[in-house]
Amino acid sequence: MALVEIKDLRIEYQTRSGNLSAVAGLNLNINEQESLGIVGESGCGKSTLGTAIMKLSPQNAKLTGQIIFEGKDILKLKSEDVRKIRGKDISMIFQDPMTSLNPIMRIRDHFFELFKVHYPKMTKEEMIKIASEALLSVGVDPSRLDNYPFEFSGGMRQRVMIAIAICLKPKLLIADEPTTSLDVVVQEQIMQVLKNLKKTKNMSIMLITHDMGIVAELAEKVAVMYAGWMVEYSTVLELYNKPLHPYTQLLLESIPNVKIDDMELKHIPGSLPDLKNPPKGCRFHPRCPFAKDICKKEEPPTVEIENRKVKCWLYGDKT
Ligand code: ATP
Ligand code: SF4
Ligand code: MG
Repeated sequence: MALVEIKDLRIEYQTRSGNLSAVAGLNLNINEQESLGIVGESGCGKSTLGTAIMKLSPQNAKLTGQIIFEGKDILKLKSEDVRKIRGKDISMIFQDPMTSLNPIMRIRDHFFELFKVHYPKMTKEEMIKIASEALLSVGVDPSRLDNYPFEFSGGMRQRVMIAIAICLKPKLLIADEPTTSLDVVVQEQIMQVLKNLKKTKNMSIMLITHDMGIVAELAEKVAVMYAGWMVEYSTVLELYNKPLHPYTQLLLESIPNVKIDDMELKHIPGSLPDLKNPPKGCRFHPRCPFAKDICKKEEPPTVEIENRKVKCWLYGDKT
């Protein structure tokens, strides 16, 4: 069952030098209790997508399409109705942990602020109980509720952020590069925390990352983004065993026998197109080794192949 249905989502950022097309016609379901990895190069629109689901897009973003959560289109909800969902049914761990915690607020008050929005009648004892349980579930001693963010190491701060995000048992957790800013050992610890939560909390996770190894560890499904498009969608195993889209093939092209867990996405030649003036036809055509005439003229269709999706003329019917 789909928990979130994203339909023809388009997001443009209005800038002084023109409109930038950051998400361009994206269709994607996030299923209940399923983990979905979102991968792609820097600037392809991953965070733009995540913040749109939270209805936290910046002011200069213009959104069209639908993001349906439990039968309601998030994009059409009034801000007071969004506030009821955000932090409770859907929550997000942001790319930059430093900016998400308020430096002059104790950890306790970060939790309390959230509880007051969703459960104004909750007693202080209950608040402390729920916050303590959430901290324990991510391996932080509840005695640290009284500490300030600066009193934590980067890894501990990330755990606290996760605890705040999951304390009200969200149905969807969006984790935007949850380990990127951490060193390798701490990265592995945070992955372990996320894996435990996935096992015990029955929630869907949308995991945004550059790292296929991280996707393989946590996710069942994966969506590959390129320049604002979702170019491929499938199970992680199928994607790894037989990538269909030329971009995914280049991303995964690697030394034989490399373990999926160790896999870094490969750097592919060329750079992302200018999203203020994206290439005509297929946005990937300037970098694609298989580009044919039609690719330079018409947007490729998204073709469904046995529960997988691929947006490419190689699988469409035009030759
Ligand atoms: P990264 O992996 O580096 O985090 P990303 O895939 O999350 O990248 P986004 O942050 O979603 O990418 O950005 C998508 C595009 O939108 C980029 O070209 C970026 O420069 C642009 N962009 C993002 N936010 C804004 C904004 N507020 N105004 C204008 N352009 C923006
Ligand atoms: Fe390459 Fe054409 Fe497919 Fe785009 S549509 S990925 S240019 S083959
Ligand atoms: Mg990002």
